[in-house]
Amino acid sequence: MIYADNAATTKMSEAAIHTMTELLQDAWGNPSSLYTHGQKAKEVLEKAREDVAAAIGAEPREIIFTSGGSEADNQAIRSAAESGRRKGKTHIISSAFEHHAVLHTLERLKKEGFEVTLLDVHENGLIRPEEVEAAIREDTCLVTIMTANNEIGTIEPIREIGAVCRAKGVLFHTDAVQAVGHIPLNVKEDNIDLLSASAHKFHGPKGVGFLYVRKGVPVTNLIEGGAQERGRRAGTENVPGIAAMATALKEAIAHMPENTTKLTALRDRLIDGLLQIPHSALNGDRAQRLPGNVNFCFEGIEGESLLLLLDDKGIQASSGSACTSGSLDPSHVLLAIGRVHDVAHGSLRLSIGEDLTEEDADYIIRSVGEVVTYLRGFSPIWRDLMAGKKEFIL
Ligand SMILES: *Cc1c(COP(=O)(O)O)cnc(C)c1O
Repeated sequence: MIYADNAATTKMSEAAIHTMTELLQDAWGNPSSLYTHGQKAKEVLEKAREDVAAAIGAEPREIIFTSGGSEADNQAIRSAAESGRRKGKTHIISSAFEHHAVLHTLERLKKEGFEVTLLDVHENGLIRPEEVEAAIREDTCLVTIMTANNEIGTIEPIREIGAVCRAKGVLFHTDAVQAVGHIPLNVKEDNIDLLSASAHKFHGPKGVGFLYVRKGVPVTNLIEGGAQERGRRAGTENVPGIAAMATALKEAIAHMPENTTKLTALRDRLIDGLLQIPHSALNGDRAQRLPGNVNFCFEGIEGESLLLLLDDKGIQASSGSACTSGSLDPSHVLLAIGRVHDVAHGSLRLSIGEDLTEEDADYIIRSVGEVVTYLRGFSPIWRDLMAGKKEFIL
């Protein structure tokens, strides 16, 4: 079996599983309790906070542990929106290809009276800092742009976007869920005020993540209750999960240089191989992309059938994101970069992991070629294209 859907979730690393199982046994106390078991858990929790903070160049007190990336996105955006509203600033800038955790939060804020500008994403899947700058107004309270896109893997110029925001006195949030543990990030150098991350995207457990909030930026609670996380997020902390996240993140950062080299070579091998399939195209910029991301459109086929047939061949991949697969709408990300509906339907995302081999990559290329040819054999759209009744787009 080849697992090529690491953007949806990753397998936990051995070390993270070890940390978690050991702590389920040994650090089951409530970190808010003052007796020995509680203090042991508290120590583990605060060590994890130091490790996570160090991984992104932050201070431990700037880290809030959450239930994952979605919660961190919600809290970041709501915090900036509410602090903006207190100053009469109710305009927010984002992009059309953000994750739904961002887009749906913005929809909700629109109903509460906020105005949202969604910037266009260029054909290569990149957002231009000068367009962010041009969109900033007197009443803008927040710019939220993702570090790397979860479908097409493009890496956005966040340092430059952050610099523009800093110069204009506007808060900058970035959904870095696909980036943390995969590419170098430093919240200070990258001019980031708020950053979201999720453990299960870097070989940690599901249901754990964190929000970085720069010192001095006001935070709104989404969950009321006890005084955990300095009163910024109530609920007894998932100590084993949080510690396992820290283990996975330290490991990902320690191995980042060799993982990047290995994945980039495999990614480029896959891209070159798949480009040999006629009427196919890579989605997103070829160079400015995550080391493990390959995303293609094939004209004249349906992504869903492609996935099922690849699964039969032992290849697990995705079409769009895990959240949109299962619905018949084409991906909002592919539409945002200007792919038309017909073409966007025939998409394939391969998000590869460190365990993939060259042989696996070649097997994927061969299998995708076979399946695309097979599906085109009885596709009415393909027949029309071949008969000249429809024009090829790719
Ligand atoms: C997976 C993902 C999320 C959601 O994270 P969860 O921990 O699953 O809630 C948010 N943003 C991006 C870009 C993601 O890839």
